[in-house]
Order: sequence, then C-alpha cells, then structure tokens
Amino acid sequence: MKIIRYQDPRGTIHHAALQPDGSALRLEGDLYADLRPTGERAEVARLLAPLVPSSILCIGLNYRRHAAESGLKPPEVPVLFVKGVNTLQHPNEPILLPTHLRSDEVDYECELAVVIGKACKNVTRDRALDHVLGYTCANDVSARDWQLKKGGGQWCRGKFFDTFAPLGPCLVTTDEIPDPNALRIRTLLNGEAVQDWSTDDMIFDVPALIEFLSGSTTLLPGTVILTGTPHGVGMAQKPEPRWLRAGDTVSIEIERIGTLTNPVREEA
Ligand code: MG
Repeated sequence: MKIIRYQDPRGTIHHAALQPDGSALRLEGDLYADLRPTGERAEVARLLAPLVPSSILCIGLNYRRHAAESGLKPPEVPVLFVKGVNTLQHPNEPILLPTHLRSDEVDYECELAVVIGKACKNVTRDRALDHVLGYTCANDVSARDWQLKKGGGQWCRGKFFDTFAPLGPCLVTTDEIPDPNALRIRTLLNGEAVQDWSTDDMIFDVPALIEFLSGSTTLLPGTVILTGTPHGVGMAQKPEPRWLRAGDTVSIEIERIGTLTNPVREEA
C-alpha cells in the first residue's frame, strides 16, 4: 500500500491509500496499529509528509562512491547524527535557505528513509525488516558551511535548520519493497539528474543499520532513519560546487516510491 497523509478542505488531517489511477481512498485508524479502508474518496487539499517522525536518525557517508567524493575513507561503523523534528517539511513546500543564521552553502542529498513501525531494541539483522512499516523519500538538506567549518566538529548544526528534512510523497509498505537495497535513487535539480545511483551501493545495508541503531537503544514507532546519500552532491560538483539557490526546484525520486519535490526559497 502507498499511504499519504493530507489535509482535507476543512483542515482535518487524514491518511489515505493511493490508487493506481492517482486518486486516493481515505483510511481511518492508527498508522502504526490498524489503518482500515473507508471506501471514501480522499479530498486532498494539502499533501503532508506521510508521518510526523518521533525522531530522525541519520547515517553519514554510507555510499561507497559518496565517501570517495568526500575525500574520506569508508567508515568502519555507521556514522550517526540526528535531525530535529523541526526539520520536517511537506512535499511541494519550500526548503528555506537560512538568512538569519546565514548559510551560503546549502546542499541536497537524496536518501531512502526507513520508517520504524514497531518499537524495537537489540534487533538482529535477520529480524530487522520485521520492525519496518515502510519507506519514503527524504532530502537530507545540509548547510555545508555549518556542517563542516563552523559546527565545532559536529554535523548537527548544519543539518538542523527548519525545512531541512522534506519527506514524502507517500509511505510505501514493506510488502511492495521486499529488498530496500535494490532501488534506483535520483536527485533532479531543476529537472537535471545530479545524483543517479542505486541503494545497493550502501556500505551498511538497511538490516545492518537497524541492528546497529537498535543496539541498547529503543527505536520507537515513527522513528525515521535516513540511510545516507550516493555521490553527486552539490559540494562535489566540478569545477565549482553547486549550492541551492532561491528559485531552484529539487526532486528526490526513488523507484517503487515516487517523487518528492520542493521549491527553494530564502527564509523571510
Ligand atoms: Mg545525508
């Protein structure tokens, strides 16, 4: 099932199941427990990110060629950092370039996002996918100046600005994606493919990440795991880096999931 979250014309928030013809049928119940079909057409006035994350865990340098383009050795254990829930952004709504705490080096990163459906801890890799509700597209928007030069050695400042975690357009349940490490993943910047690779290039695959992240650590339902980005980020473009500018449009596209598109604007 492809699940969307939306506001109807009265502003009430619902989930719905996307249909092959592009329409959607409203669901009722709890996303993590018992979503049930109502048979009623969804009146989508505003598409929202498919969930409100309980936390956003992110893995850095998890694709071989991206680690190489960053001039770094592939990590021996997964590199964990976090984004706040303030960073969530909906499909079609703007990524805001920070102007108050200014950044001049804002970058895109297409990522497969894993959504945990059942609370879990100390999961082994062979059971890891049992705890996954589904997958969506994410853009791990990154202010490289704050991430790498002015962040005191921590990446979080550059990853934590409002709107820096667009998610969507839908959450695809695991029955439709038996192998999350066999998906084409792309970023289109103003229609041009700037990242185009496969999730099979991950250094630590999705089961390995869940095993690692759940070690002595509870993953709550609604935990979103951003699994890293392939090569082709703006920072590594030649001859010059290509930073996001107001007026750009960024789309993250993952096979079997769909396309997450956001315009880029300056923070007011
Ligand atoms: Mg990333």
